[in-house]
Amino acid sequence: RTVYVNGEYLPENEAKISIFDRGFLMADGVYEVTSVLEGKLIDFDGHAVRLQRSLDELDMQTPISKEDLLEVHRELVRVNEIDEGMIYLQITRGAPDDRDFVFPDPETTPQTIVLFTQNKPGLANSPTAKTGIKVISIEDERWGRRDIKTVQLLYPSMGKMMAKKAGKDDAWMVEDGFVTEGTSNNAYIVKGNKIITRALSNDILHGITRAAVLRFAREAQMEVEERNFTIDEAKQADEAFITSASTFVMPVVEIDGVSLGDGKVGSVTPRLREIYLEESLKKAI
Ligand code: PMP
Repeated sequence: RTVYVNGEYLPENEAKISIFDRGFLMADGVYEVTSVLEGKLIDFDGHAVRLQRSLDELDMQTPISKEDLLEVHRELVRVNEIDEGMIYLQITRGAPDDRDFVFPDPETTPQTIVLFTQNKPGLANSPTAKTGIKVISIEDERWGRRDIKTVQLLYPSMGKMMAKKAGKDDAWMVEDGFVTEGTSNNAYIVKGNKIITRALSNDILHGITRAAVLRFAREAQMEVEERNFTIDEAKQADEAFITSASTFVMPVVEIDGVSLGDGKVGSVTPRLREIYLEESLKKAI
């Protein structure tokens, strides 16, 4: 694989960053994952806007223009011949001379910027979308600024492991009795034709896929309710699903061992997945 590090395109085994990098030492970094379908970037603009917001919220400089960032994405897709997959992007506060809690001066400490591709043939046609995933619920023990897309992913990673140990696919996190989101995705339930998902706040990541899916749903005259829901309400729902850049719209057929409806993928979720894939491909660049 050819990767991008601080202005250079290199084979992945030649790419290097410092052991003092604050991304490594302090999780002082932000990231984005953009999906690629038919060799084109899905919602690049949405990801670029959210990246800027994450940087601003953490008082980090913007080390690369949006135009150059697009160019790097496209070049990596080209040289790595990605038809379907993802592009991972990470920006950290860089590597000062020593470990220190105080932020380094951006004038003397350049930020680190890394991008690499993940080749995933068959991503859009995933067989899992036909059968759905099973989730468990766990307490949400993350920090209070989940709206910022930081690389601090230890708890979500532990959540995935808890699900795996239970023989399931993922975990939905619950705070004060209400579902916040999945370990790496936004969470939804469906009642009749109504799509219910938690409203945006600092408690969840503002999913780029979420924004697009809700827009397409409204355009298709589906009812959308942005409000909190409990895990018990979710267990009684007709359908449930998750969204993210790497899963698009993925059905959830079981929560904490309770099958939703007849335990099979419903009708609203596949329709939303189809609309999302079709519409977002039309706008892909
Ligand atoms: N919530 C969390 C916690 C996530 O990590 C992600 C994916 N990075 C999402 C939601 C979905 O966001 P997006 O649709 O932008 O991929």
